Amino acid sequence: MKKKLSTTDITGVILAGGRGSRMGGQDKGLIDFNGLPLVEHLLNALQPQTGAVLINANRNHERYQRYGLPVVNDELSGFQGPLAGFAAAMQEAKTAYIMTVPCDGPTIAPDMAERLLQALQQNDAELAVAHDGERLQPVHALIPVSLLPSLLAFLENGDRKIDLWYAQHRMARADFATCRDMFRNINTPEQQAEMEGAKIPLPSSTTPFPILGFCAWSGTGKTTLLTELIPRLKFAGLRLTVIKHGHHNIELDTPGKDSYRFREAGADQVLLASRKRMAMMQECKTQREPELVDVLHFVNPDCADLVLVEGFKHTAIPKIEVHRPSLGKPLLFPDDSHVIALATDDMTLETPPHITKLDINQPDQIAEFVLNWMKKGETPPSTHHIRSAPSCADDLDPTSLSVAAASSRIMDALQAVSPALKRPLRDALGHILAEDVISPLNVPNHVNSAMDGYALNGTDLPGDAIREYRVIGTAFAGVPFSASCAQGECVRIMTGAPMPTGTDTVVMQEQTEAGAAGRVRIGAGHRSGQNVRQAGEDIAKDSCVISAGRRINPADLGVLASLGISELSVYRPLRVAFFSTGDELRSIGETLRDGEVYDSNRYALYGMLKQLNVDILDMGVVRDDPTALEAAFLQASAIADVVITSGGVSVGEADYTKLILDKLGQINFWKIAIKPGRPLAFGKLGNALFFGLPGNPVAVMVTFLQFVQPALLKLAGQTADQALLVDAISQSRLKKRPGRMEFQRGTVSRAADGKLVVEKSGYQGSGVLSSMSKGNCLIILPEASATVEPGDVVQVQLFGW
Ligand code: AMP
Ligand code: MG
Repeated sequence: MKKKLSTTDITGVILAGGRGSRMGGQDKGLIDFNGLPLVEHLLNALQPQTGAVLINANRNHERYQRYGLPVVNDELSGFQGPLAGFAAAMQEAKTAYIMTVPCDGPTIAPDMAERLLQALQQNDAELAVAHDGERLQPVHALIPVSLLPSLLAFLENGDRKIDLWYAQHRMARADFATCRDMFRNINTPEQQAEMEGAKIPLPSSTTPFPILGFCAWSGTGKTTLLTELIPRLKFAGLRLTVIKHGHHNIELDTPGKDSYRFREAGADQVLLASRKRMAMMQECKTQREPELVDVLHFVNPDCADLVLVEGFKHTAIPKIEVHRPSLGKPLLFPDDSHVIALATDDMTLETPPHITKLDINQPDQIAEFVLNWMKKGETPPSTHHIRSAPSCADDLDPTSLSVAAASSRIMDALQAVSPALKRPLRDALGHILAEDVISPLNVPNHVNSAMDGYALNGTDLPGDAIREYRVIGTAFAGVPFSASCAQGECVRIMTGAPMPTGTDTVVMQEQTEAGAAGRVRIGAGHRSGQNVRQAGEDIAKDSCVISAGRRINPADLGVLASLGISELSVYRPLRVAFFSTGDELRSIGETLRDGEVYDSNRYALYGMLKQLNVDILDMGVVRDDPTALEAAFLQASAIADVVITSGGVSVGEADYTKLILDKLGQINFWKIAIKPGRPLAFGKLGNALFFGLPGNPVAVMVTFLQFVQPALLKLAGQTADQALLVDAISQSRLKKRPGRMEFQRGTVSRAADGKLVVEKSGYQGSGVLSSMSKGNCLIILPEASATVEPGDVVQVQLFGW
């Protein structure tokens, strides 16, 4: 009996082997389209619907290999058309079929493989080729690998025409008339520009929240439907953001309102804030219709478990089409492959299988569809408690939150908490300034000489000649010369001495010669005003010397002393309590029994907290016991501004940690696309901020540095302290699969040629703390990157401790 075929028997083949002649010879697969190389659009489209993917390319292999997929050259050299690529792919593929797509058509139906397979089977054909309703699209095809000998013989014969080869086999046409976008490809820069404008792909993986659009002709009742859905989705516990496209000038406030006056006066952006709500109004300078991407960065992820979009019809987001046949308007889904459901009042309408039909008069049914669609995991995670079980082997986990999204959710949830207090100048070292320091003086407070030499009036310089001047006295730093200096006269002056009356220029001692007694000779080449420091040149009176939010450093102490400032207003240090959880943990001094380990996390945390100058409350080890844990959480949150724990937040851990935290606070349990350190709990425990870090020691340090440290600095009142990242050339091969942002431990040094190089500092397991201790930096490998080869440039974050 023949085995039933499925889409996992198909290898998707991205054909990127062309010359790109009409694109100026560019490698088309690598051309940027709406922010991503074309090849990545296709990868994103093919990976979910095929068993494997490979790339056919004749150039830039190294670049394509970063995706961790096989990359094959054409079977024949010299760019001999798609069949040469087909043959190479058929040789490489490990599955029974290949499905080919050209790299320059970024819009691929999510069920392309399904449809080709169906056509093949229904027609009992050997191969299936897409048909757009008018013509065959021969490079969108499903071909069995078993036809390789036939293809090789065909090519051997000197034949290149794809249709001729197809004609030798039983071919099925697969109908793609409803998604003709798929066959729009980019052959010229003009086409690229046009397509970028027309379809703005917004793969949901680029946003931390799911987006669902509602499209319809006007007057169909989109807005009404949305107002019915919103309360139902809220009831299901979702936080909702709604984005609406307005076709006209949006006027929210009326003439006479303060905000209106600010806009009229020319403000580019007006923010209105009150206890009940806030509004942001931004003037659009370009006058072009906004795209959804222009608007998305205004979305606060804390209010967005789901973003509903009305309008922005041409954007490539999943959509529900709203349709009433009585209005006589055509259906939109035949031209928009992103429609996932049709909400209509005519349930007799025919829809293709990938479009769910919904009754517009049954908002409960539509809300349920939306909730199920979210649950299916095709969307990014909500910030609500994520309870689906992750697998550690799984790098590409669609329910994970990106590192950037987790960071911004944390940072957005914080405000500086500490009250300010006065401290004597020296005691303020390492504390964070709470108020701007305004200079009470000019520094320097008088015009003075920058050199040892002779002061004179610039108008009295000798020009091209050599002249002799009478030296009428000497000015010392601290002992000014009080008489004034006339023409033909000068004053001997020391560095720092105030400029005598009548002088504004100093000639360096070394550029003069002794003249007759009491005289000095000065030659050409001087400039009026030279070698003089102006009053207030360093710091002007009434200017801001150091802004609030800055951690006071030794140079600041010097500057403040130079202004005569004796005390400063600084924020009170944060109080940070932490404890470790785990029955297996022992403290130093205790004897280790079988299966036990010394608690190292409290020591690493202590070290990192110490560097931040916070008040540290070490609460020891707490057993994996509900009563003990509850008591510890309560005590910690009562005494500290921030509570940090390690261990007990990973899936598979005794669930009561979560139960207790749920009972005591508002905590999110996140899965983050980070390695090491995937699980992280964050939220509020009473009045304290809570971070539940993973247990593994390196994961603790990495998540502390990425998430906790910036949060503590912000809470403590410090502004602008971004970790300094530098580029270095990797000398090691750094193994990585795409899907998670990785922080590997490395050692940066300067090579003989002066370039910064980095090598890994040992084994990278998440419990292997020794490589952290040996290294001096974290090597940051972005989520999408694959294995780094020696010679590749990477970013590193120096520990600086
Ligand atoms: P957990 O997240 O509690 O499952 O812990 C994960 C791993 O980290 C386990 O191997 C623990 O033994 C280890 N671990 C947890 N806490 C600590 C700690 N404080 N010091 C050293 N290892 C720890
Ligand atoms: Mg544990």
